[in-house]
Amino acid sequence: MAEQESLEFGKADFVLLDQVTMEHFMENLKQRFEMGRIYTYIGEVVVSVNPYKQTQLYGEDVIEQYRGRELYERPPHLYAVADAAYKAMKRRAKDTCIVISGESGAGKTEASKYIMQYIAAITNPSQRAEVERVKNVLLKSNCVLEAFGNAKTNRNDNSSRFGKYMDINFDFKGDPTGGHINNYLLEKVQPRLLLGAPDDQLASLHLCSDPAAYRFTGEGARNNLLASDCANFLAVADAMKVIGFSPAEISSVYKILATILHLGNVSFLDQGDAVEVENEELVSHLAELTCTQPESLLQTLLYRTVAAGGGEVIEKGHSAKEANYARDACAKAIYERLFCWIVGRINSIIEVKKYDAKLHGKNTVIAVLDIYGFEIFDTNSFEQFCINYCNEKLQQLFIELILRQEQEEYQREGIEWQHVEYFNNQIIVDLVEQPHKGIIPILDEACLSGGRVTDALFLESMNTRLGKHPHYTSRKLCATDKSMEFGRDFRIKHYAGDVTYSVEGFIDKNKDTLFQDFKRLMYKSTDPVLRDMWPDGELSITEVTKRPLTAATLFKNSMVALVENLACKEPYYVRCIKPNDQKSPLLFDDERCRHQVAYLGLLENVRVRRAGFAYRQPYDRFLLRYKMTCEYTWPYHLMDTDQEATKALIEQHEFQEDVAYGHTKIFIRTPQTLFRLEQERAQLI
Ligand code: ADP
Ligand code: MG
Repeated sequence: MAEQESLEFGKADFVLLDQVTMEHFMENLKQRFEMGRIYTYIGEVVVSVNPYKQTQLYGEDVIEQYRGRELYERPPHLYAVADAAYKAMKRRAKDTCIVISGESGAGKTEASKYIMQYIAAITNPSQRAEVERVKNVLLKSNCVLEAFGNAKTNRNDNSSRFGKYMDINFDFKGDPTGGHINNYLLEKVQPRLLLGAPDDQLASLHLCSDPAAYRFTGEGARNNLLASDCANFLAVADAMKVIGFSPAEISSVYKILATILHLGNVSFLDQGDAVEVENEELVSHLAELTCTQPESLLQTLLYRTVAAGGGEVIEKGHSAKEANYARDACAKAIYERLFCWIVGRINSIIEVKKYDAKLHGKNTVIAVLDIYGFEIFDTNSFEQFCINYCNEKLQQLFIELILRQEQEEYQREGIEWQHVEYFNNQIIVDLVEQPHKGIIPILDEACLSGGRVTDALFLESMNTRLGKHPHYTSRKLCATDKSMEFGRDFRIKHYAGDVTYSVEGFIDKNKDTLFQDFKRLMYKSTDPVLRDMWPDGELSITEVTKRPLTAATLFKNSMVALVENLACKEPYYVRCIKPNDQKSPLLFDDERCRHQVAYLGLLENVRVRRAGFAYRQPYDRFLLRYKMTCEYTWPYHLMDTDQEATKALIEQHEFQEDVAYGHTKIFIRTPQTLFRLEQERAQLI
């Protein structure tokens, strides 16, 4: 039966609320949070509230309680969803995906770890060595990716600045045989990890352990090196080893991180007609660490090669400003590419080999997506724009999969169905991405126009072309709104609420600002990892003809691919909520939670679930499982059709109030009915 708990814990499924209103929803959520019940269902969707404290909710014995059970048999839990996804994969050979979303600090990454932990615990009973190896790599990869992908934000000092998508491949036995990771990193340079290294190692990289000594680690409150930094370094070092990085590769990774730290400290002297590097010893350190020639390195810091027509090239000296700018673009690019290289290397270690896949036949996938939620800061920039666009895309998928699919199926099956009003956010997705008309195309057009473009001109262009769009405003078009700055801000009315963005930096952040000279320099490095990271460095300036894709377009393309990929899988959702901004285990901030519930669309989700049916099955499949519970269907099928037989069965158990008969399927409204059927069945076998 469903969760056997007293009412003081509230409703374990929001579908069972007396009334579906925001007040009732919030009351139940709060009551459960305060009783330590951090998980609640909406049908098969898990709503999770970050407890901000250690709980007894996880571990071997709890895993045993969920193993192989049906979703509603036990109190709501991530383990139950992991098990449901696993069963769908194993019994029905369905590819599934578990989408974990929520704002930063809501508990997404922790949730994905518990899901992985569950899958690792219930698979490979025969302890096959190869499966153990793959499992280990999958589990350890998290540690490495988190270390490189995390950065301090205002809301969460360990928030992932990236989305992580992980495929786990299973063989016909249901054991993991491989995987693949995709990452969606947003630009942030975070080399602090390295400062936790032992002193002798730091010395060999010409580094000291004081974060304040480096521009890239000097900012922020957590400025002293902590014991946890050192522990983290060792954990990552160990994880890389376990995953299968060679000692040479690990050493290259450290050298590359050190390069970034030193590069950040290079400063330039403006000598009027020329620019010089102020701290020359850094140039020799950098050349040593990157395995390049010091002269070439210095040249690249101070000059760029430009095409002068007719195949000629000239060396043009940077201004001090340009030199600063180029240096930071380089550091950022190195960090991004290092991260991608690490992901690629992990993938090469766990990819399912072609001949293995053939050998084992069927290969199904459980995908786990841990992705940043909607973000609203005091000042929102290009990064928030990308994140929020991503969430519009995911909401669109959610609507597609859960809301629309449900409604369409009822229609198809001829079942009476009360239409549920919901907001379709396609219009906002279009506002951002529509070819020639959307914000991204307008931004790209501005960036690629060649002339001198500024953020202000980009804003002008948006105002002209999007001024009438119902989800777009700018101060210029709405002169009375004092919360926006004239000539700087624009606002998108997202499905989750209004967000004001500052256009400052949009143009720069969207362009590939890295000079080809840097790429060529890196490509010429004798360090195999560094060289590997710059395949595009082979080209000289006259050979570079096509402009590289812009950051926004690359991001958009990766989101489109992601959504296409998810759309063909059976979805499970975990919706994470952050109860307060103080990381307190005691505080349930009503306002903040209400806001999250609203933009996650949870109320609409409950309405659809309630109007609908929790369970459905084609008649023949249904009978296959339950026929032995009814004298009309067992031992002999006495009815003319499967539908009639199903009716007879349901009526014998007196469940007729709770079901509807479609053309090809039976629909059962509440999960409890299903459990009673399961119990009947269990008594007979
Ligand atoms: P997100 O990935 O959504 O940004 P995290 O998963 O990193 O957030 O969670 C932020 C912090 O909240 C964690 O470092 C941990 O301290 C706490 N936390 C999250 N989920 C749980 C949980 N289920 N149990 C205990 N603490 C948690
Ligand atoms: Mg995270």
